[in-house]
Amino acid sequence: MAEIKIEHVTKKFGDFVAVDDVSLTIEDQEFMVLLGPSGCGKTTLLRAIAGLGMADTGRISIGGRDVTYLPPRERKISMVFQSYAIFPHMKVYDNIAFGLKMNNVPKPEVDRRVRQAAELLHIEGMLDRFPSKMSGGQRQRVAVARAIAMQSAVLLMDEPLSNLDALLRLEMRAELKRLLAEIKATTIYVTHDQIEALSMGDRIAVMREGAIQQCDHPTVVYDLPASDFVGGFIGNPPMNFMDAQVQRHDGVVQVAISGFTLEPHATMQPLLKPYDGKPIVVGIRAENMETLGEPADDALKVRVLVVEPLGSQNLLTVKIGNNTVKVATHPTFQVEPDQDVWLRFPADKIRWIDRDSGKVLYP
Ligand code: ATP
Repeated sequence: MAEIKIEHVTKKFGDFVAVDDVSLTIEDQEFMVLLGPSGCGKTTLLRAIAGLGMADTGRISIGGRDVTYLPPRERKISMVFQSYAIFPHMKVYDNIAFGLKMNNVPKPEVDRRVRQAAELLHIEGMLDRFPSKMSGGQRQRVAVARAIAMQSAVLLMDEPLSNLDALLRLEMRAELKRLLAEIKATTIYVTHDQIEALSMGDRIAVMREGAIQQCDHPTVVYDLPASDFVGGFIGNPPMNFMDAQVQRHDGVVQVAISGFTLEPHATMQPLLKPYDGKPIVVGIRAENMETLGEPADDALKVRVLVVEPLGSQNLLTVKIGNNTVKVATHPTFQVEPDQDVWLRFPADKIRWIDRDSGKVLYP
């Protein structure tokens, strides 16, 4: 069992709080992604787990063992960091085999694991090369292969695919996920690429300014973001946000966007009541609006500014009040810039957001 438990971990650099009271449990064999913008503390947290930078306060345990103050080599982990530290004087084969030999793994097993890892990373033809004769992306793959070959119970990876070109990255994403499931490692994977996070993670912990804003399964984080930050960070295009006004009509709470009235579900009524007469933010994803080519009573008329045919969908840019909104339509939906379309906002797809705190209101 290699559950990783992080309890109230804080890490400061001088007065600057890089990791702010983070608590997180990664289950045995789980694939946890730490996602967030540059500088939000992902690497600092991962380094604390690895033992490369001790936490100032808090506790970290791996497999039930308190490792908070143990050096990295005693934590029984493998890691790949952005700066792929591979040995320049060793050929690729020996680089990948290094840890296994140190652990006295029998030679045939070393050979099997080196070749398997090299094959996965598409560097099986380079086992005889020195790192100086390789590109940055190839060297990065050596570092990943070396970590994978160890088959440790815990694998920590910091942007391991960042130096690969887009196509290889796409391929590696799926292969790495399959392999990690096979070797049953508990994995923490740092990335700022939300597509990578959504496609690979069992769960995603979204970080901002040293703290975890939300930690949940990819579909939950995508569909039910806890805040405007999470909704805006995850998804391409990001979630749309529209300024709206809460009002009451015959005792029923309504929300007006640009003169158009939305009727929130009955479950939302008590939560929206305190906002009566006040502004609120309406969040909705591009693909969750229904686009009509003709007027309808329950649809808002908008002018199309831009049409982007993306193959699997057409992405429309429209203006609603002061907000620029992206709307995804079926690729066969015919529309030109400067034409009008009508949008429906299915009530179950709308996220109601407190304007001051950015928090999503939930029943
Ligand atoms: P990136 O995606 O750019 O790698 P990150 O989320 O991994 O970003 P960290 O590298 O953890 O971010 O850095 C978090 C914050 O801590 C940043 O503002 C960074 O400038 C600061 N920081 C990191 N290491 C140090 C250090 N050794 N001394 C001072 N400040 C540091």
